[in-house]
Amino acid sequence: MIDGKTRTCGLIGNPVEHTLSPVIHNTLSEKLAQNLVYVPFHVKEGMVEDAVKGARALNILGCNVTVPYKSEVIPFLKELDPLAEKIGAVNTLVSVEGGYKGYNTDMPGLLRAMESDGVQITGEKVIILGAGGVARAVAVLLAQQKAEQILITNRTLQKAEQIAQEVNGLFQSKTVSAVTLEELCGLKDEGYLAIQATSVGLHPHDDEVIIGQDAFYHKIHTAYDLIFNPGETKFMKLAAKAGAKAYNGLKMLLYQGIIAYELWNDMAVSDEIAAEIYERLKKALKDE
Ligand code: NAP
Repeated sequence: MIDGKTRTCGLIGNPVEHTLSPVIHNTLSEKLAQNLVYVPFHVKEGMVEDAVKGARALNILGCNVTVPYKSEVIPFLKELDPLAEKIGAVNTLVSVEGGYKGYNTDMPGLLRAMESDGVQITGEKVIILGAGGVARAVAVLLAQQKAEQILITNRTLQKAEQIAQEVNGLFQSKTVSAVTLEELCGLKDEGYLAIQATSVGLHPHDDEVIIGQDAFYHKIHTAYDLIFNPGETKFMKLAAKAGAKAYNGLKMLLYQGIIAYELWNDMAVSDEIAAEIYERLKKALKDE
């Protein structure tokens, strides 16, 4: 029931039509009996500052921010959480005195997803495939969580090299190294966790994969694909065939949303409710 006391949250992005975030937040409100509604806001190019000011003027409790505005929104915020500052991207705005505070819940979301799947980061040797916005954030998370070694590769190697340099600088370490795809296939070591952070294999290109060589998949014990549509990517299939555990990115999506909801409502969402929302998300994806 929407009434005079209903609070509003929303998603700022372009486009926003295919978002699953309303499923997460509106189901949370229903389960937790919160008088809160979540809606998508399609913000056109060049309108981010107006969108933030408008949200403030309309007393909107909080927003998620998605592509292409996760960095562009930062100058218009009152405060910035230190992790979001390190990552250089904000996906959640929380109303504070005089404006919004920006957080990045994508990476804490990935961490919580991995914990729930029993996947460790601390002390692990990790490979990141890709060097886009999310891959950079993953490199920061892995360094923060004290992965033993982080190898990052990308079609455009220069971008991987830049991330390695920046993240090593941020953490005053030499943990991150950029490598070519060929170098990955020739790794002497085994026992890597591989995080797939490119858009290769995203529906409708379900048959595409960033790395096809079997040799690579024998070096990894776990494949974590940040793509969630399709539910089982070719990357996951090749990893499973080689005997590795394989996970998709749907739980990351789930937990980035849950953490945002917790920030807006100053509450903790139980594992039981999280599991129910996860089932709703899977159903929404199937129905798409
Ligand atoms: P992005 O900044 O556009 O980066 C795209 C990455 O994919 C780059 O490394 C790019 O390489 C690589 N790539 C694209 N097409 C390629 C091709 N044909 N061959 C080789 N490499 C290719 O994207 P992003 O925002 O980081 O997102 C990356 C992925 O994360 C997306 O698939 C998205 O679905 C997923 N994601 C998941 C969640 C979640 O909650 N689970 C949240 C956000 C994003 P170049 O640098 O060489 O172009």
